[in-house]
Amino acid sequence: MGVGDGEPIEMEIPEDHPRYLSLTSRERIADGVEAGLVDRTGLIAHGRGEAFDYLLGETTIPPAEMATKAAAAALVQADSSVISVNGNTAVLSGEEIASMSRIHDIPVEINIFHRTEGRVARLVDHMKGFGLDDVLGIDPDATIPNLAQPRAACCEVGIYNADVVLVPLEDGDRAQALKGMGKTVITIDLNPLSRTARTADITIVDNVVRAIPNIDEAMSEMSREEAQGILSAFDNGDNLKETMEFIARRMSAGDDR
Ligand code: ATP
Ligand code: MG
Repeated sequence: MGVGDGEPIEMEIPEDHPRYLSLTSRERIADGVEAGLVDRTGLIAHGRGEAFDYLLGETTIPPAEMATKAAAAALVQADSSVISVNGNTAVLSGEEIASMSRIHDIPVEINIFHRTEGRVARLVDHMKGFGLDDVLGIDPDATIPNLAQPRAACCEVGIYNADVVLVPLEDGDRAQALKGMGKTVITIDLNPLSRTARTADITIVDNVVRAIPNIDEAMSEMSREEAQGILSAFDNGDNLKETMEFIARRMSAGDDR
């Protein structure tokens, strides 16, 4: 089959390819759309993320390391935390999130922007496939105030009651509504200018694929006392400013890796 005749082209990406992570992620998102796990708009969100990742040099930059520690600290100190997982996050980092959920006893709730009950059920099964016994999201029984349905639907024992929510790749409206409920909102978003990035209490400007294992590791090494110190020293506005300055310096240096 040739290019342009409508047949998908099977692509083997060699592991030593300099952009292996980026290319395999793109394949995973495309396969996720085919499998009904990712909405087609997830392709657009992914492309936007790729562009910002390129500006970072596809690496975890120092301000993201600081924000990752702050995120771990907030989770260590939480009374009741939750990881909100959407389609893109599930196909890119599902396995790592399942592992973090088990190790640190943090429930996972499927919560998607373009909600259909079929897609929620497929995502729950996808996450259970990584060894989680319970995944929240089916039969939501609570409503996030100041947000239109169906996006407001959530689970009382999960997102609704949590004091700390980790919401990677979240939409700005919902991030604002969660903050309006008085929660500590942690996001992972490659765009330091998005409303989500600006709204969250802690914004990790990094690829979710790199950020999740980093949070997991930071939590494992942190006591509650250490967490308190890290949280009081962290300012999200300052961190985002440092992120923008990092990108600007990199651009003006003409750094092409
Ligand atoms: P907002 O609603 O917060 O203003 P937006 O409408 O511009 O943001 P959305 O489509 O709602 O964007 O959310 C997708 C966000 O996720 C984008 O900011 C994009 O940069 C980011 N993103 C996409 N892929 C990844 C990834 N792999 N890791 C981290 N962030 C990502
Ligand atoms: Mg949005």
